[in-house]
Amino acid sequence: MKINTIYSPNFDKKKRSYKSIKFLVVHYTGMQSERESIKRLCNPKSKVSSHYLISQNGQIYKLVADNRIAWHAGISCWKKYKNLNKNSIGIEIVNKGHKFGYTNFKKKQLSNLIKICQNLIKKYKIKRQNIVGHSDIAPLRKLDPGEKFPWKRLANNKIGIWHNLKDRHLIKFRKIKIVNKSKVEFINKLKKIGYCFNNKKKGSFFKIIKAFQRHYRKELINGILDKECLIIAKNISKKI
Ligand SMILES: [Zn+2]
Repeated sequence: MKINTIYSPNFDKKKRSYKSIKFLVVHYTGMQSERESIKRLCNPKSKVSSHYLISQNGQIYKLVADNRIAWHAGISCWKKYKNLNKNSIGIEIVNKGHKFGYTNFKKKQLSNLIKICQNLIKKYKIKRQNIVGHSDIAPLRKLDPGEKFPWKRLANNKIGIWHNLKDRHLIKFRKIKIVNKSKVEFINKLKKIGYCFNNKKKGSFFKIIKAFQRHYRKELINGILDKECLIIAKNISKKI
């Protein structure tokens, strides 16, 4: 796998130990063009970066060394971890995103993403449940990598977790309302998966459900908890 280096100055001065690397965070760039994205991630004024970037044609660029803390996650939370920059590797995939024209990820982008993830997982012994999207760890602020990101395909390659339920079985439970007791159960399952519920702001539950749906039930992303969501959450939490 050929990796080109472009230097970004946007990382903490202090080095980190390789042992502190526990998560992979997947992003999309969400900008008009690839050139602009790279420029921004390398501009000291922007104060954002990532360790890797995968271009439209699948080329992998390394912007920040793995033993440096890159600035990609921002305010974030997963399990007991807060502000995931210090414990994660950030991977940006070039895509215009929801704001500028969200498109399917390219074949070459995905095949090379799978390769780099597999390398990193092996190198740093990253657990399957610790491979997340930006929207999973910052559901109130972020949508990326979004519902076109093929988490199921990645899970088939041992990257991240997916449920083992049949679509034709699941669809029967879509839009079926659930009782309040099940809402508590759903929250507990999501907490087990890693989602954080520490923000009490109005509308935050709605956004967390949306983030969950964007990842695990992309057919309907409405922020409303239904029985299908509950069944998926139960199934996934059993694998952790
Ligand atoms: Zn992001």
